[in-house]
Parts: sequence; structure tokens; C-alpha cells
Amino acid sequence: MAVDYKEPAPYRRGEPNPNESMMVRFDKACQLYGLDEGLYNYLKHPVKIIIVSIPVTMDNGKLEVFEGYRVIHDNILGPSKGGIRYAPDVDLDEVKALASWMTWKCAIANLPFGGAKGGVRCDPKKLSSRELELITRRYTVNMLEIFGPDSDVPAPDMNTDEQIMAWIMDTYSMHKKETVTGVVTGKPIVIGGSRGRREATGRGVMIATMAAMKTLEMDTTSCTAVIQGFGNVGSVSADLLNEKGIKIIAISDVSGGYYDPKGIDVKRAIEYVSTHKTLEGGDFGSPVTNEELLEIECDILVPAAKEDQITAHNADRIKAKLIVEGANGPISADADDIIAAKGTRVIPDILANSGGVIVSYFEWVQDRIGYFWDEDDVNARLNRMMTEAFDAVYNTAIKYDTTFRLGAYIYAIDKVSKVLKLRGIYG
Ligand code: NAD
Repeated sequence: MAVDYKEPAPYRRGEPNPNESMMVRFDKACQLYGLDEGLYNYLKHPVKIIIVSIPVTMDNGKLEVFEGYRVIHDNILGPSKGGIRYAPDVDLDEVKALASWMTWKCAIANLPFGGAKGGVRCDPKKLSSRELELITRRYTVNMLEIFGPDSDVPAPDMNTDEQIMAWIMDTYSMHKKETVTGVVTGKPIVIGGSRGRREATGRGVMIATMAAMKTLEMDTTSCTAVIQGFGNVGSVSADLLNEKGIKIIAISDVSGGYYDPKGIDVKRAIEYVSTHKTLEGGDFGSPVTNEELLEIECDILVPAAKEDQITAHNADRIKAKLIVEGANGPISADADDIIAAKGTRVIPDILANSGGVIVSYFEWVQDRIGYFWDEDDVNARLNRMMTEAFDAVYNTAIKYDTTFRLGAYIYAIDKVSKVLKLRGIYG
């Protein structure tokens, strides 16, 4: 039976958004792959959605009620895995889309995980540390039957950090009457976190970039790169690419950017940001806006800030030969064809930034065996898994004569649907 892949996703809102972009690419990949209609419908929808109410007595004595979500997109390959974000505009549709993204990311990286995502609708900037802790603990209690090292393993995402993961682990452990470190990843190293986790996403971006350059026969000795976003992912990517001999000619954060064709001293910029929390006020080159920065002539562009930075409005002005998506969803689906027509190659987010979830997997493994690896060991394993994932995506893209992005989706869909068929449909 013909499948109507064009049926609108329930969360389409008219504007390009990362959720819609994900569904557009998923649909295209299913079409190219020729996925059976039943499996398409199975994989399109999450298996479980949990909505909870989180009452908290605020510092001013008033009772406020927050809404929290956890969406399990699937647990076909193993326990579901995915971060929890705290944001004022987080909603169920967004969490649903992000959960399915995790399914594809874990499948590409060959991790024994399904996909999930969580969220709490709150504004962390307006919350005290005590209020954040209460929200986190109550959210965790509401999820006691969902979370678990063998069922669903959360991690940090937007506005959630090591401390919040420590509170989740502690709350869960108190109720289980034993310390269960493997219930969550992204914890501080002293309580079961993994060495190398903080740098893992940026390191993965570097590994994917080097693999792509080798495949595309780009000369690494005379290459330039532009990095948008100078937080965890952007700064580590810039530093490690620089160590590989790539000249970083522009960097930026939310305050704006700098351009220096002679090359920016990345370590000095990292030091500056660790003191000032921003690039603003530094002297790293000529000032540029974030829009201008994206259009600078360079070999490699790493958008590592936020979603929808390259859209149909500016895609034809991008001059990079290779774009490596450090952020989730920095290129909207309406820009894909414009970029492909220019001959620009894109390493998609679900491959390029999977270093974070790969080392989260290492953390889960180390917690379960109770033996912790040194950083060289973590990095060597990350290097091997990222390189294997890159090769798998590349070979799939060649086989289907398509982009790396659709190759990545097809590889993931093939893997998950094959396992689903082997397991069969129970009931
Ligand atoms: P972060 O908060 O550490 O850094 C974000 C950076 O982007 C900051 O420098 C900020 O100033 C900058 N920024 C924000 N808005 C901007 C704008 N409009 N223009 C330019 N710069 C802007 O966050 P992060 O952990 O580095 O995450 C960055 C992206 O990578 C996000 O899309 C995130 O989902 C994705 N990601 C992160 C990880 C991880 O392990 N941290 C893993 C996978 C994907």
C-alpha cells in the first residue's frame, strides 16, 4: 500500500522549526528507504508519554505548579536514553520530536538504547537553587516508575547540569533504598560520572570533521574553520580542531563574534570566557554579527549554538565547503536543497554531535560494572565509535545516492526497523 509520508505532523505550526525539520527528513528517508507503512506509523509515534504536575513551595511562600514531561519514543534497541530540558517554552510537541531524534542518534552510534526526552516548563533564570532542587526532586519522584538503569536513563540538556543530575540520582536512590548511579548520566565524576564527558560532544565534532575531510579529500594543513557558539560544544570543537592544525578564523557567542583571517588564539578565548562568561569585550579580531559570521568564506563551518541558524533565507550566502552540525537542528529543512545544490556537504547533528550520548553510554556502562576508565581510554573508545558511525553513514549515503543527512536517517531507520521486525509485535 502506498504510504502518505506527507501527512502533516501534529505539531506543525507554520514556521520552520527543528521539530518539523526532523519530521521532513524522517519522511524523506522513509520514502527513499521504502519503509513499510505499518513500521512507519510505529516509528513515527512515541510509545509512551507522561505528563506530571510538579507543585513547589517557592521561596516567597507561594505554591506554584509546574508541568513536566517525559516522552519515550521507543525502547526497541534497549532502555530509552535522552536529556531533560528546563525552559519556559518547552512543550509536549517539542519533547516528542526531540525524543525521536534520540532514537536515531543512538541507533547511528550503535548504542543499545532507544530514544527519550524530558522537560519541565519553567524559567531556570528566575529560580533559586532551592527551587530548582525541589522541582527536580518532585519531577524525579513522579517518574520513579519510568526512570531506571534498565528502563529509561535521563541526562542533561538545555538548562540542566551535573548538579541536577546528582539530585535526580539521589532522589531515585533514596526511594530504591540503595545508590543507583546508573539511573542518570552526566553526573559529576565523584559520584559516577565519566571522565571525558564534558568534552565529549566537541571531541566528537572534531572526530566527525576529520573523518569527513579525509573522505572528501580536503587538505587539513591549509584549512580554515568558523565556529558559531562558544559554549561547551563550540569552544571544545574550536580548541580540538585548532590542535589538528585547522585555523579558526571566526568565533561567536550570543553577544556577537570576531573575525581574524590570521587565526584566533582559541585557548586565550577559552580563558577569557571562563573569567568573563562571555566573549563580549574581548579583542579577538574584527567584530562581526552572528549573521555575518555564518557567511564568512571558510572550509568548515560549525554551527554550535542553537537551532534554525541556516534557513532558506541565508542558505545561498553560506560559503563553507563543509558544515558540521555541532548544535541540534542548526539547519532547517527548507535550507537542505539550497545547500546541497551549492555542493556544500553537511555532517548532520544526529551524527556530528553524538559524542555526548556516546560518552553517556560509557558512563552508564562504567556505573554498572563499577570500574572507571581513564580519560585516554574514554577518548580512544569515543574515537572508534564515532569513526565507525561516520563510515556507516557515509556508506549508506553512497548506497542510496543521497546526502549524509538522509544517509544517517536511513541507516538508523534500517537498524531500528530490522530489530523491531526480529523482536516482533507482542500482543
Ligand atoms: P552552551 O549553553 O554551553 O553554549 C551555547 C553557546 O551558544 C553560548 O556560547 C551562547 O552564548 C551561544 N549562543 C546562544 N544563542 C546564540 C545565538 N543566537 N547566536 C550565536 N551564539 C549563540 O550549550 P552547548 O552545550 O554548547 O550546546 C550547544 C548546542 O549543541 C545546542 O544545540 C545543544 O542542544 C547541542 N548539543 C549539546 C550537547 C552537549 O553535550 N553539550 C550534546 C549534543 C548537542
